[in-house]
This record gives sequence, C-alpha cells and structure tokens, in this order.
Amino acid sequence: MNRVRLLVLNAALGPLDYRVPAGMEVVAGSVVLAPLGPRQVVGIVWEEERLPGTSVPDERLRPLLGVLPVPPLKAELRRLIEWTADYYVAPLAAIARMVIASGGALRGPSTITEYRLSGGLPERLTAQRQAAMEALEGEQATIRELAGIAGVSEGVLRGLLNQGVLEPVEVDCDRPYPPARPDFAVPNLNPEQRAVVDELVAAVRAAAYAPFLLDGVTGSGKTEVYGEAIAEALRLGRQVLVLLPEIALTEAFLKRFADRFGAAPILWHSALKSTERRRAFRAIASGEAQVVVGARSALFLPYANLGLIVVDEAHEVSFKQGDGVRYNARDVAVMRARFEGIPVVLASATPALESLAMADQGVYRKLDLPARFGGAQMPAIRTVDLTQEKPPSQHWLAPPLVAALKDRLAKGEQSLLFLNRRGYAPLTLCRHCGYRFKCPNCSAWLVEHRLSQRLACHHCGLETRPPSACPECHEEDCLVACGPGVERIADEVAAIMPDARVALVTSDTVNSPDKAAQFIAEAESGAIDVIVGTQLVTKGFHFPELTLVGVVDADLGLEGGDLRAAERTYQQVAQVAGRAGRGAKPGEVLIQTRHPQEPVIAALAAGDRDAFYTAETEARRDAGAPPFGRWAAIIVSSEDDAEAREAANRIGATRPMLADVQVIGPAPAPLSLLRGRYRYRLLLNARRSAKVQDVIRDWLEPLTFPSGVRVGVDIDPYSF
Ligand code: ADP
Ligand code: ZN
Repeated sequence: MNRVRLLVLNAALGPLDYRVPAGMEVVAGSVVLAPLGPRQVVGIVWEEERLPGTSVPDERLRPLLGVLPVPPLKAELRRLIEWTADYYVAPLAAIARMVIASGGALRGPSTITEYRLSGGLPERLTAQRQAAMEALEGEQATIRELAGIAGVSEGVLRGLLNQGVLEPVEVDCDRPYPPARPDFAVPNLNPEQRAVVDELVAAVRAAAYAPFLLDGVTGSGKTEVYGEAIAEALRLGRQVLVLLPEIALTEAFLKRFADRFGAAPILWHSALKSTERRRAFRAIASGEAQVVVGARSALFLPYANLGLIVVDEAHEVSFKQGDGVRYNARDVAVMRARFEGIPVVLASATPALESLAMADQGVYRKLDLPARFGGAQMPAIRTVDLTQEKPPSQHWLAPPLVAALKDRLAKGEQSLLFLNRRGYAPLTLCRHCGYRFKCPNCSAWLVEHRLSQRLACHHCGLETRPPSACPECHEEDCLVACGPGVERIADEVAAIMPDARVALVTSDTVNSPDKAAQFIAEAESGAIDVIVGTQLVTKGFHFPELTLVGVVDADLGLEGGDLRAAERTYQQVAQVAGRAGRGAKPGEVLIQTRHPQEPVIAALAAGDRDAFYTAETEARRDAGAPPFGRWAAIIVSSEDDAEAREAANRIGATRPMLADVQVIGPAPAPLSLLRGRYRYRLLLNARRSAKVQDVIRDWLEPLTFPSGVRVGVDIDPYSF
C-alpha cells in the first residue's frame, strides 16, 4: 500500500494522509492536489517521521487527485520551511504558502489572457466607462488587475470588452528570458576589491555554506564586487538571488545590472502581474532563471539550482516582515544558504549590530572595503544646532543650510534634502478649538498630502478630503498644518530659490518603475538642482554632481524610545550622507538637530563609526538586548478593546516563571489601535541561551480565545 503524508497549505488543518493511486509518481516534496470533503486542497508530500499526525487506517484513505506541474520541493527547501516555522513560531502551512504563494503559478495552462485598450472608440460610453478607459492608457493585464488599476468593478471592464474598447492578448508564460552573460562588461578592480572578489569567487566555486559580511563604506564598490561573484555563479550555471530592501531602489540596480551582464535580471515582488509572476516562478523552478532580484518573499521560492545569495543593504529594517509570519529575511537568507550549502553575502555600509557581532564571533567572515573607489573622499559632515541657528517661523531650513543650498545652485552642483516623512504636514489642527485630525482606525494623526489634496493615515491607508470647516467647532478656514513633511520642504526650497529645479522623491511621486527611471535619468543628466526626498533617496543612487546633503531633522527617528532608534538613525543618516561627493567633487553634509551632543549625532558628525558602535554595544549589553540577549513579543489584537485586553491579561496570568526569561506587560502596544484592531503586547526578554520559542509555544498552546482574537508572535521584533 502506497500512502503519503501531506503538509496541506491551510494552517487550520493538520497533516493529512492519502493513498497514492497506481501509476502516479510521487516523491517527498511533490506538490499534489488532494480531496478534502467536497473540496480540493494543495499539499506537499512530506517525510512522515518529520510531520507527526494521527495515522488513518489504509482502507479509509482517499486517493490523491494529481501531481501539479512543478518540480518536487527539494529537501533543502523543506528543511528551510521547517526551520522558519520553528524559529518564528508560525504554522508550517503559513511558510509553505510563501513557497508556493503563487499557487496560481502552478495550476492551469502556461498561457494567460490579458487585455489592453484596442484603440477603438464606441459612440456612447458611460461616464464611468470613460473614466476607466482613461485610467487604463498604456496598461495590459488581466481583467481583475485592470479593475484594480482603474478602481472599478470587473463588470465595468467586461462592458468595455463587449463594446470593443478592450481587446484580448494571449501571454505565453513559458517564453524564455534573454540570457545574462558573465563576461559582458568586466570592471577593473582595485587591489582591495580584487582581494574581496577572489574570496567570494572561491566561495562560489567551492559551493559550500559560507556566510560573508561585506562591510564597505558607501561608494567603495560593494555592488561591483558582489557582481563578480554573480558572474562566477553564471559561469557555473548556478542561480543567484539578490535581495533588495526596497523595490523603488530596484530601477537603478536593474540598469546597472543590464550594463554589466547584457540582460536584466528577473524581478520578484508582491506587485507583479499574474503573468509576470507565473513566468518568473516557472523559470525559477525549472532552473532557467539565472539571476533573481527580489523583495524578501523571493527568499522562499523553489530555486532549482541556487548557487549564491546576496542581501544588499542588509541592515535595512524593511527586511523584517511586520505582520503575518514576522520573519527577518536577512536571517532566513543565511539559513537558506546553510541548508543549500552555498555562500551568502550580507552587504552594508552600516551593518546591523547583530551582524557585526556574528563577524566578531567568527560565525561570518568579514570582508572590508574601507575606502571609496577612485579616490573619492568621504564627505565632510557637520551639525547645525537648531537651538542656536533657528529657521524663521514656519520654516525648517536653518541659515547655514540655506546658504549651502544657494552656494551649490550658484556652482551648478546638486543638493539633496532628506526628511523621512511623506506628505506636507504630519498634523493638522483647528486654530479655534484645537481639534486634531486623527485616524478613526489607528492611534495616529492624519497626514496632510497637499499634492493629492488628502488627509491620509500612513498605517491603514485611509484617505479623506480635508474639510473646509472644523468638524468639531464648525468654524470655516481654520485648519493649520503643523510641522513639515517633504512636500512642505520642497515648497520652502522653491520659495528660497525660485530658479532651482526641485524634484520631490517619495513613494507618492515616484511610484512606478517608469517614474523611477525618469527620476534617475534627470538626476544623472543634471536636470535637477535639489532633490527633496524620504528614505527612498538614502541609498543605491550614484549621482556624481551631488555635493551637498542636508538632513532636515536628524532627531526625528530618536523620539519614541525604540530600542533600535539610535542604530536606525545612524544607518539612515550615514546612508544619505553617502550620496554626497561620490564623483570628483568633494561632498558636504549638514545635519540639523536640536541635540548635537546626543552620542549618535556626535558620532555621525565626527565620522566616527567605531565610537557609535562601541556606545551602542554597551547600551545593548545593559538592556539585555540583541546581540547579548533576545527579545520576543506576543501581540494580542481584536476589534473589541475589552476582548483584546482580557485575552492579553489571560496570557499574562499564565506567564511562565523562568530564570532566563523575563515577561513584561501586557500593556497597550505602541500602535494601540491599528486598522481597527486594539492591540496589547507582552514583551519577553530572554538570555541568549533560552529557547524562547519553546517557552512561547508551551505557554500559548493550552490557551483558547474567542474567534475575534488574534495572537501573533514576533521573534526578534524591530519596533518597540
Ligand atoms: P557601493 O555599492 O559600495 O556603494 P558601488 O559598487 O556603487 O559602491 O561603487 C560606487 C561607484 O564606483 C559606482 O559608480 C561604481 O560603478 C564605481 N566603481 C566601483 N568599483 C569600480 C571599478 N572597479 N571599476 C569601475 N567603477 C567602479
Ligand atoms: Zn489608520
């Protein structure tokens, strides 16, 4: 009797046993379709001994329905799924779903029908169809995706299809990608780069687990250097995964990659169209895909023949997933490399303290690029003390920064102003009654976006039109914008220097690959004098004419008492400072602050990285924080405040009494209301040796909660 155990892609179900019908080829890792009651489920054949479940007698087993057309998941990947579920205290099914999230990529034909405007214009169009038609200019996607783009129902688009305004296009998801070539454009490496490349190339050839921390200052050639490791993997016919923290960054990277390898890499992120997703998935699983550049979700794909992983800007906070399975892609990348038996490169100019500690302990091999390529100097950095050098009222740029901006404009050089705050103003209030506009779904203020004329919540996405009168006291024209966002800073620059060409770079304005490419081209050609941007502009770009960087408010990230606030501030400011003076002309960085004596600001101004890391290491040691101790969080939420609080209290009441794990709380979580859910949190601070995951599992396992309550676990949380 041939029976198998399945890991079913549904976290509510445990492992299930099935019979393999005669003639069906099934091995461990096969992705199969199985009957479940009247429905069908997708499952992965798993080793029975690794997936305990109750055994159903042979005669009661139902037969599998079929094997899906995807290669069986390799043992290396199955072990990664198990490790991730275990480490992050998440259901195996939730991780398995990330592997074949693109479930759609598995089933059905290799051809998908997309639609685009046909160019035809019917005699009569309803206003709604007319608007939809205008929104779809230049788009081609499935009906469902087009409906999302146009913001209308699929019915409206079916109407347009019937009227001949849309036409179908068959897209073959098996068509090959243009091949990348390792020797297309080879750089001349300097001796430091050569030494690093030699090590990396040897590691790619050795095809054994080897974690590297590539620690190089901004502009030292980290990308150039790991590019040579990629070239070696290509020569050996092995696949490469490059993880990037932000998709907005990708455009500059893709361009550079195409210059070096003669073809663009394959992209993977959550916003792909279904045809792109299916095509990429198939190529990755078959081994045809050579180099994949992706967001953190690309980490779980079933590569046929992975030979190298690169995590660029490895310190970035966005590698940490904030909800669902709260994993850190940087750590999972190292584990994947370990299971696959391949090298992994964590590249950063400002490594996370945890990564440096791993290097110190000899777990990671540290590779250094201490100087900028081509003799470019690191920029001169100084602070502007806002308590001494005050900007005029309702302005945010202090006199020294204004003078520096004017100086660069006169010389025809470029400047960049950084403020990590989207929109025009973070708070709007009524000058008569003091009413403040707050999100009804979140404990957060609504941010004014003047370009789009909206008040928006940056947590739940709620958007409303600003009213003309105060909703509280009904006074007309009484709303005041408080504080600056980047839009307001751009206005201020335009007022100070009316002739300057200003580019506003935020996820609101640069929100597509085309716009990103356009921005890069303009900035490179010198068509922009001042770039005003959020963290989108802090990394990845290389604009040779950029000689001044102004940090509008360095204190912003330090507020709130977050454990990692100092580290994040250091990384962000050092990154954005790294945009200055990358070409022949020297760069200058002005950091506006009200706390120039703050250790992290002082270290930045002194250009003393070691001073910062030393101080931060001591602070972490005192707090029992990573890398010395471990933090974890249990987050309880419900739409009903009392229900959430009660559940959190019940968890708190059954807390384990252990010497090496201290439990703090429950207390309202930092965002105590988020997307309409009330949130409470218990924090665990554990010794490094404690297996905090087992503690949490044993603790939560016997507890049951009302169906409206969600209990999430966050191992190594980022925001406190
Ligand atoms: P990082 O990733 O460390 O910030 P990059 O790889 O972006 O550094 O290099 C900075 C700049 O120097 C880029 O324009 C890059 O093309 C150039 N560069 C670095 N190394 C070389 C090299 N060996 N030959 C030519 N150009 C190089
Ligand atoms: Zn909200």
